[in-house]
Amino acid sequence: MGMVSEVKLIDENGLRIDGRKFNELRPISIEVGILNRADGSAYIEWGGNKVIAAVYGPREAFPKHTQNPSKAVVNARYNMAAFSVDERKRPGPDRRATEISKIISEALEATIFVEQFPRTAIDVYIEVLQADAGTRIAGLTAASVALADAGIPMRDMIAGCAAGKVDGKVVLDLNKEEDNYGQADVPFALIPRTGEVVLLQMDGNLTRAEFEEAIEMSTKAAMFISNLQREALMTKYSRAEEREETKEEPKNGNSGEDAHE
Ligand code: ADP
Repeated sequence: MGMVSEVKLIDENGLRIDGRKFNELRPISIEVGILNRADGSAYIEWGGNKVIAAVYGPREAFPKHTQNPSKAVVNARYNMAAFSVDERKRPGPDRRATEISKIISEALEATIFVEQFPRTAIDVYIEVLQADAGTRIAGLTAASVALADAGIPMRDMIAGCAAGKVDGKVVLDLNKEEDNYGQADVPFALIPRTGEVVLLQMDGNLTRAEFEEAIEMSTKAAMFISNLQREALMTKYSRAEEREETKEEPKNGNSGEDAHE
């Protein structure tokens, strides 16, 4: 980031190195409830990012001095696996992971009705298995779905997207090359139902007009992603309902996990 580059990121047809238009998202898919031990979980693939989120709680906060008598404490922990990037990443928390954990915790606390659960902790684990830029927003997006899967009351699932500037043009959802050689990256997330912005950062520089363009693009993308989150939840829970209905008459052909022969 920040380097003046010789790398050409937008071609003569206005397409980006992965063929996307300037306001086009990478492909996103979300799966709900992939872990059995967690109270809620989700898996997201977002372009080259692969991220798992697991939620535990609300449960009594321990040790006791970490309890807040008036609300739940939200502890998000973002971690990048050693194998998530080309060069092996040194395992364990670093400054970057600590920062991302903090801003994600704060964002989630803004949407959860924390005052309903005094003295408890809500633990949110975000594990990045594969990273290709935009992992903090991918993680926050998955964590929000995992919270919903855990049944934790909240204003809405947080949705977001980064926008930024490459080759002098404002573009949506930067990939790794664009993040490395571009001029700016602006991660952004909001609570769709209220419009409240809960995460906003900027790496690099934008003019005011470019910034406004970036936010407009990210907001549209967030609304689209918000729908994907809802669809992912409905897919899980309509499947569960179907299983309930067909319990008495198991299907032939043992393809499903709960077909009893
Ligand atoms: P985000 O993933 O939210 O965009 P950054 O802008 O800090 O966060 O990082 C951009 C990308 O840089 C990451 O998604 C990842 O692909 C890569 N990256 C981050 N940290 C490391 C690291 N320690 N080693 C190798 N690549 C990294």
